[in-house]
Amino acid sequence: MSLYYLSLGSNIGDREKYLRSAIDAIAALPKTIVVSVSSFYETAAWGKTDQDDFLNLCMVAQSDLCPQTFLAGTQQIEKSLDRVRHEHWGPRTLDIDILMIDDQIIDEERLKVPHPYMTERAFVLKPLAEIAQSAIHPQTNQTIQYLLDQTDSGDVVWLKSYIHK
Ligand code: AMP
Repeated sequence: MSLYYLSLGSNIGDREKYLRSAIDAIAALPKTIVVSVSSFYETAAWGKTDQDDFLNLCMVAQSDLCPQTFLAGTQQIEKSLDRVRHEHWGPRTLDIDILMIDDQIIDEERLKVPHPYMTERAFVLKPLAEIAQSAIHPQTNQTIQYLLDQTDSGDVVWLKSYIHK
């Protein structure tokens, strides 16, 4: 049984619906239960101004699936919910990243854990700190709260809690 820390994001269509559907689909994976889900956070898309704002959240799941099988599961969920992407070029209806798996370090071509960019992304660290403040990043040996404090997270805005529909 491992703890999977996940980041989910969407920036096109009914973003909240995609994220909620993804959470339900993760909960329906074999040998997997959802432990906690953060609030929804919104981040203004900067740089590419023709993109919609991102909606992000993090979640923790407990699973008996091995990392590669779990990734195959989340990629299948991305594919089944990512219909709009094939019609419009660019933005994502749904992105699921595996941030951490317990204190494991995995460096494979198709799976890198901890996720290489998680320590610099405020839109990942802010929701993650809400549900896993004291979790330790196994490469930096720093807590998620500490990593968040090192980033500029002012443009990641709390929108509403998961239980608030
Ligand atoms: P993206 O399109 O940015 O979501 O990247 C997807 C690719 O990243 C896939 O080919 C995955 O195999 C790879 N990948 C590597 N590490 C991870 C991870 N920790 N979580 C999710 N995808 C990963």
